[in-house]
Amino acid sequence: MATEAAVASTGGVVDHASEAWKMVGGSAPRPFLEDEHLAFRDSARRYLEREVAPHEARWIAQGIVDREAFTRAGAAGFLGLSVPEAYGGAGIDDFRFNALFGEEAARTRSVAFASGLMLHNDVALPYLISFCDDEQKQRWLPGCVSGETLLGIAMTEPGTGSDLQAIATTAVRDGDHYVVIGAKTFITNGINADLIITAVKTDAGLSLLGIERGTPGFERGRKLEKLGMHGQDTAELFFNDARVPVENLIGDEGGAFLYLVQKLAQERLAVSMNAIAGAEVALGLTIDYVRERKAFGRTIGAFQNTRFKLAELKTEVHIGRLFVDWSLQQHVTGDLTVEHAAMGKFWTTDLYCKVADEGLQLHGGYGYMQEYPICTHYADSRITKIFAGSNEIMKEIVGRGMGLG
Ligand SMILES: Cc1cc2nc3c(=O)[nH]c(=O)nc-3n(C[C@H](O)[C@H](O)[C@H](O)COP(=O)(O)OP(=O)(O)OC[C@H]3O[C@@H](n4cnc5c(N)ncnc54)[C@H](O)[C@@H]3O)c2cc1C
Repeated sequence: MATEAAVASTGGVVDHASEAWKMVGGSAPRPFLEDEHLAFRDSARRYLEREVAPHEARWIAQGIVDREAFTRAGAAGFLGLSVPEAYGGAGIDDFRFNALFGEEAARTRSVAFASGLMLHNDVALPYLISFCDDEQKQRWLPGCVSGETLLGIAMTEPGTGSDLQAIATTAVRDGDHYVVIGAKTFITNGINADLIITAVKTDAGLSLLGIERGTPGFERGRKLEKLGMHGQDTAELFFNDARVPVENLIGDEGGAFLYLVQKLAQERLAVSMNAIAGAEVALGLTIDYVRERKAFGRTIGAFQNTRFKLAELKTEVHIGRLFVDWSLQQHVTGDLTVEHAAMGKFWTTDLYCKVADEGLQLHGGYGYMQEYPICTHYADSRITKIFAGSNEIMKEIVGRGMGLG
């Protein structure tokens, strides 16, 4: 449950000019970014500072981002950049823009809003762009760009998460409809989403259905209380004989497993990008803190233990940043492998959790207080090792890539 203190903790933004920020590499040259990317980064930062960060505390307290925030982001041009012009988008399929948006969200502490937006832009939307037919694209994509149609993606069920083949939600053809029976859980944007890409079992195997707000028999359950990510509406969904028109089948019946394999690498890269940006910010906050706080007549930063810890973390964060930037460039040219996406996902999320934990330790008791942002990093980072494929599953992928089992 978010507390008053959690609300207070979201005030203020990370100063890009701060020495700590430069020290963790935030100002390092990145030659693969062109002028248009840097201009986009500046406008994303201004937008987040002005329109998002001031509201985050309230969204955290209420456990959900105001739905209108996404429509406003659509009007400002931050949704569906990659949607082709024929369907109302900018037709810019360049993941460097998505990466920069995520980095600015971490720095401006706009994470509740940005996690919903990134689920929409980076995770769900690519399925519609790649696998919908023209009629579906005409029907759904313009709303995805304007923000009138916010997306969710529902794979996980109460009885299965990692093992997608065990999905039990069924969709049985009945004339012009599928009748869907089952339940999903832990769904990001679960309350706010208008269109949910839902994995179901059909006669032909695992399939994807677009299930819209207002579908008879589709109900939303609880908005779940979490350890962190308090502003994000993570929810249960129920399908009780939900009648979904056959025109809402995405791609082919039985094709979903292949579609998921194609798109999960991008989702995992997005998680790595956010994790390394979160680690950079958490490290910068810690450096700032240990330079000020004193014990035994010296700053905490003057103790050798602190210097060694921060030296190790800075080194790992720098290595992680180089790997993520390399992965991003591979992705832009269509060369990011499933194994490299999995390596980045488990390594950077482990690192983010480590930086948040060590950073909290160096804050002493204050680190445990929600009014200190390192506390939010500690709680928010924890889920990154679990979602988008748990880190154990990532290691399975890397292991199998070596021909082991
Ligand atoms: C905040 C949040 C947001 C989420 N958002 C979404 C969303 O938008 N859409 C969605 O569909 N899901 C979402 N999820 C669900 C998330 O993807 C699952 O929780 C995750 O895939 C793990 O599944 P599970 O929880 O069922 O754990 P399980 O699959 O039951 O796994 C439990 C443990 O066993 C381990 N394990 C499982 N299989 C193996 C194996 N073969 N080898 C070794 N270890 C194994 C796992 O790594 C884990 O440690 C979200 C979850 C959270 C908490």
